[in-house]
Amino acid sequence: MLADKDRIFTNLYGRGDWRLEGARKRGSWDGTAGFIKNGRDWVIEEVKASGLRGRGGAGFPTGLKWSFMPKEVGERPHYLVVNADESEPGTCKDREIMRHDPQHLIEGCLIAGFAMNAHVGYIYVRGEFIREREYLQAAIDEAYDAGLLGKNAAGSGWDFDLYVHHGAGAYICGEETALLESLEGKKGQPRLKPPFPANMGLYGCPTTVNNVESIAVVPEILRRGSAWFSALGKPNNTGTKLFCVSGHVEKPCTVEEEMGIPLRELLEKHCGGVRGGWDNLLAVIPGGSSVPCLPADVCGDLPMDFDSLRAVKSGLGTAAVIVMDKSTDIIRAIARLSYFYKHESCGQCTPCREGTGWMWRVLERMARGEAEKREIDMLLDVTYQVEGHTICALGDAAAWPVQGLIRHFRHVIEERIDTYSANPNADGSVLVAAE
Ligand code: SF4
Repeated sequence: MLADKDRIFTNLYGRGDWRLEGARKRGSWDGTAGFIKNGRDWVIEEVKASGLRGRGGAGFPTGLKWSFMPKEVGERPHYLVVNADESEPGTCKDREIMRHDPQHLIEGCLIAGFAMNAHVGYIYVRGEFIREREYLQAAIDEAYDAGLLGKNAAGSGWDFDLYVHHGAGAYICGEETALLESLEGKKGQPRLKPPFPANMGLYGCPTTVNNVESIAVVPEILRRGSAWFSALGKPNNTGTKLFCVSGHVEKPCTVEEEMGIPLRELLEKHCGGVRGGWDNLLAVIPGGSSVPCLPADVCGDLPMDFDSLRAVKSGLGTAAVIVMDKSTDIIRAIARLSYFYKHESCGQCTPCREGTGWMWRVLERMARGEAEKREIDMLLDVTYQVEGHTICALGDAAAWPVQGLIRHFRHVIEERIDTYSANPNADGSVLVAAE
């Protein structure tokens, strides 16, 4: 369990003063100018040495991503863009940073902007996040008034301007290239890659897009040293992480913990355990709605980190843990997620536009039992035809939950079909839920 002294987000629950004065008392902006005076190579090397992997879902090494930006500024300016379009069902961590600890993020933006030769940064905030935008803007205004942003930001010699951009509430704008399109004032539709944003991002200029949490932890990594951060967690899965736990636990919460904490320990130490006790657990979606669910029997000692979850064919994603107890109709739950991805598809590519709707409609029938068993493999086959065949990862995000359902709960689908075919007038979902 993470010791209090190792916490980065010490005002995660908003019990202290979220404003600049309170943040400074907690250590924010301490030594920032010194980090910048150490030079951009030092900053990037420290972030690389810390082992920080992107907290937005993909888990790509942050320092390595920064190093993809051109070393020198040519004719085109460089941009830092922060992805605060937190819209994945189950994920609610970045909003806590923006509401209660925004100076971590603002200080991180200055440091990251400097490391990538960017004088301008944008924070793209999810459309539904009204309060978060207000808090963040107030915190940025305070930082400007205190000389921490703008010309010679924080006395570092680096000029840095930071803007908040409020989205209009489309999930797909959390995809980095759709986000850039939206930021440019266009329809939020993902771009084909390559070219990657480090080459051709915002307004065709070199750009790095990072998640809020990835940027917000950087100042503390530099203050306490990369060795401190990399000593937490496990090799290749280092540091602390914000876990957001929702669903059938006694006390849903967002909590900062050490990477690799066993799932059961996470739920029992911080969330009061599974509703009705551990034996009442049916399944867990460990990393936001797009990753495959896992059945209870693999969940107990399962380390919550990128590599361990990949080894069991799921993923850490955003570390949004959705807990489902035995009262859950798992087919209906996954069908609901399928509806979400169908609804959020931007419609550019056929496998996603058509496949998400097709998968949802079949799952709706399966949830009622109105299907044939051969359709289970047909559905699985369609998920593989969608996965990896689309412009952006929304296609994968729609396919994976269905794959997880069939991998672990095929028997539930089959039983539902049997129940329905034995008595087509009975509501199969009610029968299964009551088991
Ligand atoms: Fe749009 Fe879906 Fe294609 Fe992504 S995968 S570009 S959301 S149609």
